[in-house]
Amino acid sequence: MKIAVIGGGAAGCFCAIGAKRRLPDADVTLFEAGPKLLAKVAVTGGGRCNLTNSFRDVERLGEVYPRGEQVMKRALRVFGPADTQRWFEAEGVRLVTQEDQCVFPASQDAMQIVRTLERCLRQAGVRVCCNAPVEHIEALPGVPGGRIVPGEEFFDKVVVTTGGSSREKMERLLPEGVAVTDCVPSLFTLKVPDAGLRALMGTVVPRTSLALAGTKFRAGGTLLLTDWGVSGPATLRLSSYAARHLAENAYGGTLLINWLDAPEADARGWIASCAAQNPRRQAAGTPPSGITARLWHHLMNRAALREDLRWAELGSKGAARLAATLTADAYPVAGRARFKEEFVTCGGVDLSGLSPGTLESKAYPGLFFAGEALDVDALTGGFNLQAAWSTAALVASVL
Ligand SMILES: Cc1cc2nc3c(=O)[nH]c(=O)nc-3n(C[C@H](O)[C@H](O)[C@H](O)COP(=O)(O)OP(=O)(O)OC[C@H]3O[C@@H](n4cnc5c(N)ncnc54)[C@H](O)[C@@H]3O)c2cc1C
Repeated sequence: MKIAVIGGGAAGCFCAIGAKRRLPDADVTLFEAGPKLLAKVAVTGGGRCNLTNSFRDVERLGEVYPRGEQVMKRALRVFGPADTQRWFEAEGVRLVTQEDQCVFPASQDAMQIVRTLERCLRQAGVRVCCNAPVEHIEALPGVPGGRIVPGEEFFDKVVVTTGGSSREKMERLLPEGVAVTDCVPSLFTLKVPDAGLRALMGTVVPRTSLALAGTKFRAGGTLLLTDWGVSGPATLRLSSYAARHLAENAYGGTLLINWLDAPEADARGWIASCAAQNPRRQAAGTPPSGITARLWHHLMNRAALREDLRWAELGSKGAARLAATLTADAYPVAGRARFKEEFVTCGGVDLSGLSPGTLESKAYPGLFFAGEALDVDALTGGFNLQAAWSTAALVASVL
């Protein structure tokens, strides 16, 4: 049997190794467009490679896989995070799990992961062709296998692991009729052109929740204020959940910041207790927990409250304005900025055209997909690479 794997990234390399180990008599060829395999893995996690996550803090898979939850449920059953850890440890890579549950090689060196996969490819006997971009896969509906262009070589099974790209590129590569959803970026930070907020650059607010006004998109977590707007885990999460919506709206909208990650009633309660307990103290001197003095000053300004105001002077209107500012502080969004550490594509091969248990095209038997080429993507934290390992292992197990 001849198997072609197209794309030498995490998913392609892992799938080729798995396929050749399981089917030693098969002829497995890995085609990579670039001069080197695993170029992206080499820069993952800021060069440290956050290769998976313990998933200990994941309550619902959809929280970390906004697209592809069902496919990931199956793929993780075949090859989950514990399997990833066992696999790499069996290949001699010692791993460490951080407090935030992200898993890295103990060497803190992504190149160790690259070298390990390259060695496994060699040892398994996978034929590797670099500088070999595949332009098109020729196949006929219902007829197994496909021909790779250029080269015209025929393969019984073809696995597409070309990563995140554009819908046009994917459609040029794939046989006619394989549906691809629109590809847009995910995991980015937001530009917020508010001078007051930008002046607070470097401020970290440990517990916030963000929302886009007029939508159901919400995300909680730490917020980082930057010189261009907002960043940090809460922003990245929101960008992932709302990736399509934000793209459709030219990355504009209104960001609602709940600085306390609490309902407005709780904010009112806190304000009432401050007024009752410290009526003569200046409100500016008693920020809520998690809010720095400078940010508190900014928020009081936003609520149109005097700096020297005492709690007793707040009045019901002032209290209402302050509670609203603390829990739904609105800022216009004026675009996106790229997140330096991680950047993935939302969109890819439409999952409805694939058999979920095998990731094989329903229309073209013998045509499989794994990794970011699928319409599957995740939050930061090792979940994207885990999706690559899991979907690649699933495909390798059914070829
Ligand atoms: C800077 C950065 C840091 C990241 N850090 C992390 C992290 O720490 N943890 C994490 O979980 N995720 C991280 N990610 C995301 C993660 O790297 C990707 O989700 C993952 O690498 C996807 O693997 P893949 O094999 O599907 O695609 P890719 O790694 O993109 O590989 C696809 C390969 O296919 C090749 N190719 C494309 N078209 C063709 C063609 N027509 N013919 C032949 N070859 C082709 C490409 O050249 C490429 O080598 C990071 C992403 C970036 C950009």
